[in-house]
Amino acid sequence: MKFGGTSVGSAERIAGAAALAAKSVREGHGVVVVTSAMSGVTNQLIAAAEAASRGEWRSEARAELFARHRAVAETLFGDRRSLLDSALARIDERLERFEKLCFGLSMVHELTPRLLDAISGTGEMLAAPILAGAISAQGFRSEAVEATELIVTNEDFGDAEPFVDATREKSRARLLPIVESGAVPVVTGFVGATVEGVATTLGRGGSDYSAAILGAALDAGEIWIWTDVDGVMTANPQEVPEARTLREISYSEAAELAYYGAKVLHHKTILPAVRQQIPVRILNSFEPSQQGTRITAEGRPSERGVKAVTSIRNVSLITISGRGMQGVTGLAAKAFTAAAAARANVLMISQASSENNLCFVVNASDAQRVVRALRGALELDLMLNHIDEIAADDSIAVVAAVGDRMKGAPGIAGRVFGALGANGVNVIAISQGSSELNISLIVAEEQSADAVRAIHRAFELDRPSRSTD
Ligand code: ADP
Ligand code: ASP
Ligand code: MG
Repeated sequence: MKFGGTSVGSAERIAGAAALAAKSVREGHGVVVVTSAMSGVTNQLIAAAEAASRGEWRSEARAELFARHRAVAETLFGDRRSLLDSALARIDERLERFEKLCFGLSMVHELTPRLLDAISGTGEMLAAPILAGAISAQGFRSEAVEATELIVTNEDFGDAEPFVDATREKSRARLLPIVESGAVPVVTGFVGATVEGVATTLGRGGSDYSAAILGAALDAGEIWIWTDVDGVMTANPQEVPEARTLREISYSEAAELAYYGAKVLHHKTILPAVRQQIPVRILNSFEPSQQGTRITAEGRPSERGVKAVTSIRNVSLITISGRGMQGVTGLAAKAFTAAAAARANVLMISQASSENNLCFVVNASDAQRVVRALRGALELDLMLNHIDEIAADDSIAVVAAVGDRMKGAPGIAGRVFGALGANGVNVIAISQGSSELNISLIVAEEQSADAVRAIHRAFELDRPSRSTD
């Protein structure tokens, strides 16, 4: 069971999370809990680190974080001195390290990804002892465990990847004895450590991924993600108020939705689950009696074809163009090799059939690095005028329509583009993966919400269907 930031955002929410874990234990299940940092804490930590690296270390940051966590711990187990003292001791220790790291940063003025990970993963380490205490307060033994002891990752700080075998071995050795003794381990989400023991993080929103990694390592029967909405919905409810919760989606649909911006799931969450065919549930910790969304192999396909619509912002469109590109072989290979060498993830690719334009989408934070890498790798082609221009455009968004039944169903793309045209949305580029469960398109950023709403309406996703009801 993983609890997100808002699900552990206050004393009341933590008590609720503890009660949900306790209920499952009472029903006879072995439960491993994974916790996020309390809402807002990760952002606060990152802001403090960035300020420190500019020489603006605010010594109040530690005191503020301590005060918030202490107030919550006191509300939850004020009269149980031993629970309170042990949680506060752990919190203080972690904040001490946080302060030292920030102080060091304010001297050296350089925030490396490695240091940022050591700091940004602190929030989970502050939340875990409180949630463990809250579970103990409900009469079940519980122990906070830091995932730096469990999840072994590579050295991609800020976006680390787990080593499956090492993680499996460590997690089973540490967690199974706790579960078998009837107690509940509360593991910090988001963090891991390299083989040498240096702290890493799995990327923003990565606690979902932690839960799936541990679920797979422990051969869990199910992976439950408790969040602040009723499940995976037909669109982001903040963008489309009439969005509906999907009862069941397939692993491939979930992976596609997460990859194309449905923040409810970290984009890699599904991978460990699908490898072992472990069902995943997305549940609302504010409304635990709601059914939520089940993610399974079959996923209850929708007769409408499109099941959900997503969008991603903060992306950049890289365009390589030139009339001399026609017939020149190997340009795409050189371009993507360069993008990979610049460690940029390519979200979407599109090439005009006239072959004088190749474009692809990367995260905006990678764009300038990619452009520099491309200018280097394609220097000769620029000189020979095969290519006229390599440019990055940050003012775009990717919109994706996703559904398993789009496969082989004619007319879906037509309806998508018809809806966009009728709503005055200009499509800059399109792409459909050969898996045919996704049509993704690039639009101007300011039109992306309109595009999502237009597709949502065209496929009547606000109305019940077999996949929602
Ligand atoms: P947590 O802190 O529990 O991990 P997140 O904020 O990371 O929660 O993710 C949940 C949020 O994802 C929801 O509040 C919602 O605003 C957003 N969201 C975006 N797209 C979707 C979608 N298709 N279905 C459900 N929620 C979505
Ligand atoms: N606390 C981390 C973040 O805010 C991880 C998570 O919440 O999933 O990104
Ligand atoms: Mg999240």
